[in-house]
Amino acid sequence: MTLSPTTSQQAAIDHDSGNLLILACAGSGKTETLAHRIAKMVKDGVRRESIVAFTFTNHAGAELKHRVRQRLETMLPSEPSLGDMYVGTIHSYCLKVLRERKEDFRRFEVMDETRQAALLASNFYRFEDSGRGIGLEKLLSRTRMKTFGDTLHTFMNTLNVLHQQRLDLRNIEDNVLAKTVENYREIVYGYPNYFLDFNQIIDDLIDFLEKNKDQLMKLRSDLSHLFVDEYQDVDDRQERLIDLLTDSGCGPHLTVVGDDDQALYGFRGARVENMLGFEDRYPNVTTVQLTENFRSTHAIVEIADEAVRKISHRIPKEPVARVFVPDGSPKEHLADPGDVQLQRFTTEADEAAWVAKRIEELRGTVFKEKNGEERGLDYGDMAILLRSVRGAGTDFSKALRDHGIPVVVSGTGGLFDNDEVRLIQASFSLLAKSDFYLPGKDGKMQLINTVGTREFIRKKIADLRHSNHFGDSANSTHYLSWIDKMRADLDQRRLSRDERDVHKGSRIYPQALFQKMLQELGILEDNWPNDIMFNMGAFSNLLTQFESVHQWITPARLKSLCVFLSIWGARHVDEGGISEVASLNSVKIMTVHASKGLEWPVVFLPRISSHVFPSSRRNQPLNTFLPENSFNSDTYVGGDDAERRLWYVGLTRCAKFLNVSTLDRSRKRPTAYFKEIAHDCVSRNGTDSTPRRKTSPQPPAYADMLQTTYSDLATFRRCEREYQLRTLMNFSPGVGEQFGYGQQIHNILAEIHQKAIDGTPIDASEIEELVKTRFHLRYTRGDPFKAMQEAAICSLTRYVEEFGDKIMDSRAAEKSFELLVPDSDALISGVVDLLERRDALDVPPSQREIVGLVEFKATRIKSLKDYEKIHERVQDQIQLYALGVRYAFSQDPQQADIHIISHAEFPEELEQQGVKARIPIDVTPPTLRKAQEKVKTTIEDIKKGITNSNFPKTGVAEGQCKECDFRVFCSGYREFISNSRNVTKTSTPEEDRKEEMDQLIEETYARSSSE
Ligand code: SF4
Repeated sequence: MTLSPTTSQQAAIDHDSGNLLILACAGSGKTETLAHRIAKMVKDGVRRESIVAFTFTNHAGAELKHRVRQRLETMLPSEPSLGDMYVGTIHSYCLKVLRERKEDFRRFEVMDETRQAALLASNFYRFEDSGRGIGLEKLLSRTRMKTFGDTLHTFMNTLNVLHQQRLDLRNIEDNVLAKTVENYREIVYGYPNYFLDFNQIIDDLIDFLEKNKDQLMKLRSDLSHLFVDEYQDVDDRQERLIDLLTDSGCGPHLTVVGDDDQALYGFRGARVENMLGFEDRYPNVTTVQLTENFRSTHAIVEIADEAVRKISHRIPKEPVARVFVPDGSPKEHLADPGDVQLQRFTTEADEAAWVAKRIEELRGTVFKEKNGEERGLDYGDMAILLRSVRGAGTDFSKALRDHGIPVVVSGTGGLFDNDEVRLIQASFSLLAKSDFYLPGKDGKMQLINTVGTREFIRKKIADLRHSNHFGDSANSTHYLSWIDKMRADLDQRRLSRDERDVHKGSRIYPQALFQKMLQELGILEDNWPNDIMFNMGAFSNLLTQFESVHQWITPARLKSLCVFLSIWGARHVDEGGISEVASLNSVKIMTVHASKGLEWPVVFLPRISSHVFPSSRRNQPLNTFLPENSFNSDTYVGGDDAERRLWYVGLTRCAKFLNVSTLDRSRKRPTAYFKEIAHDCVSRNGTDSTPRRKTSPQPPAYADMLQTTYSDLATFRRCEREYQLRTLMNFSPGVGEQFGYGQQIHNILAEIHQKAIDGTPIDASEIEELVKTRFHLRYTRGDPFKAMQEAAICSLTRYVEEFGDKIMDSRAAEKSFELLVPDSDALISGVVDLLERRDALDVPPSQREIVGLVEFKATRIKSLKDYEKIHERVQDQIQLYALGVRYAFSQDPQQADIHIISHAEFPEELEQQGVKARIPIDVTPPTLRKAQEKVKTTIEDIKKGITNSNFPKTGVAEGQCKECDFRVFCSGYREFISNSRNVTKTSTPEEDRKEEMDQLIEETYARSSSE
């Protein structure tokens, strides 16, 4: 179906002078309009690399790129690539610019909120003797609840306010707070962490540009158009950056897109005033309003519009409901009587039962999609949106599950509401000799002593067996005695080096302990259901977040993991399996905040009752450790307007069947939001006067692109079960001491190549110094660190000595690409290590630039077998990357190589066969066509697996189990061992990593003593 832009969309697309404000009502096609506008600019000759578009999330960035590409394929079929256009989050942009302009930033890694919490939890105390830690305990007594969790959250709020309002701690005259913030900054930004939180990235770029005017001028002159999506949710620091980049709107053209009625993040410091005052602050502004809603019926549009008109300060709009007509003008999208249901209940249970009944009633009802096709509604078409999911979310999920309705709940911190997860948490508490808290009946946390914790474990195992979640192999006596044995082992590791068993180090790996727990609970013998496995995967992922910020975990420091689990994990981490791909056909329960940007044919908005929606806490100030008068606290108080905006967002998620309900009894009354709803299509007595056609329910097609990477595809090809465990369930492998080595090598290589591109190449004699200043590993110290640093010096010096001339051909280092595989609706992202100049003299200048593609592998090849394995594995990757470069840029990789970076010499048997560090890979057009077909087949198979929730253990027959990260708890490994008579050695992944490390240390010593 051809969808022509509406008149106002066309005006936004064509605008070509000055700055542009696009006010886009819900459902008005803003992403499509933005994509069309960007594509048209490229067609009109704007350089791709001079376009920068900020999106609110990575997901939104991928969606926008995809649509720009689609448009370019029609408008500019000869060259539809996006090239070096930047489309993504503002944070990633800041990091990219900083890394390009200040080499020191290459060592930094972005830290999200969960890792920030893990780092705060594991450094909570300040140990004055060692000088380590943040010292948050000094602020604990200043919080309302006087708990660790409260202190941690209040401190995180404080850090945000300090950044957003650009406060100088020296002016606040609070030495304790100032010292705590200083400790935090030292630990996060300093050696060996080198983390940047989201706030710091923006601050660093602003500071850098303000201090380096020449760099600012250069950045501005490289930029012709800046786009900012979701502009209503930009905070003051982000606005400062936008202002800097566009020279207050007098330099590069600025297009901002958003809807002030959908501003949701005031409580985090976002300021809708930036949008409301845009026309006054920036010069030469044209405003275009997109008011045609192509999502919802006229009933929903009118109800939502009425609700939002009561906001005190907003931009007036006149939204209308529209439906596309093929090759014609849109017409009004009319609702049917009974589409909107309003209901009152005296009890929560009655309300939840009605929701379940209504879901069953609507299932199978014929629904017309935007493209005109009809199908029967299914569970995946429905959502329950709540002001706060905690508590209420569980009421609804329980009622729905009692009716056999599949449901996923997000935003509850609900992971720890599950018996199997609490059981693992209790097990870690016993191992760490740490306090174990559980929420009591009154909701307050209660301390459980060791005897109680053991009893709790016994009971949970019995319950899980009783509910058939665990099988007969889960035996509490056996499990508790295993915990006792592990505790004794950890006690041994606590001893000083002299007193310890010679084979025991002090370091422990929580992920390996966790995998062992699963084994002891019978995972290898019993078939655990998927919902248990998804939750275990979510727990595994949480451990990884902790391990990634906690360098060296000793038995004594295991306590900080328990603190992190109880003060962050239990409050913030959702159940496993809530992602769209993992639960395609389930009713979604989530907060209205989380529903932003989503839509469903059927939406429930229950509990529109006093204290709940609008929230009775809407006027509460933000909790921080800062004195009240030291910052503009009003910014963070949502008040009535913010609550109404949230209500508007909730209403406009719905396409057709809107169901609003409330409690109506003493002290729980319907609120104004409920009472205000008035429309001809509303039914208040549960009746529906419109005859509804029924058909077989058909789940929504997986509408989103499958966003994936080569590494995911390779995992699936290795073993489908491994793909499910790793990619969908989020199980993580353990973190070994080598962790990060390959990345460090890649970072330094990128710097070497960038210097060559900039015309300041590095000499082999400078490598040692470069490695010593840049190389760092967060999880390694002592001999292992020295061995790896030495290995890095040796490998990189050899590379520069042998390939110095080639390095001068560097064209681009670490280039990110995205490839939309034709006819497969999958977006594959990757980063090419190096593109080299390969200009052919006989190629006319108008054609694509010919380049060579190089992929580095920091690995050691010991035998012909190793070589063959690497070759086979990496050639698929390189062929895919060659396709990616062709797709994303106007370059054509006609040659490609794997380059082995190793501290060790190549084995003689390979040298004799002429195998060198650079191994050529075939990227001729027929080979790439085959590679593309192979990728398409893999994607189809993955999608089939997702639809049927079927991922067999194909790794057994493929012989992959021997090296699988999950072999400790996947029964496929046992099958593999019993099938392969010649495999006698069975080691764990942890043991393999240790053996590899020991060998590296041995080689380093052997080399240094021979020098
Ligand atoms: S152990 Fe074998 S069957 Fe199990 S996930 Fe790994 S490769 Fe697949």
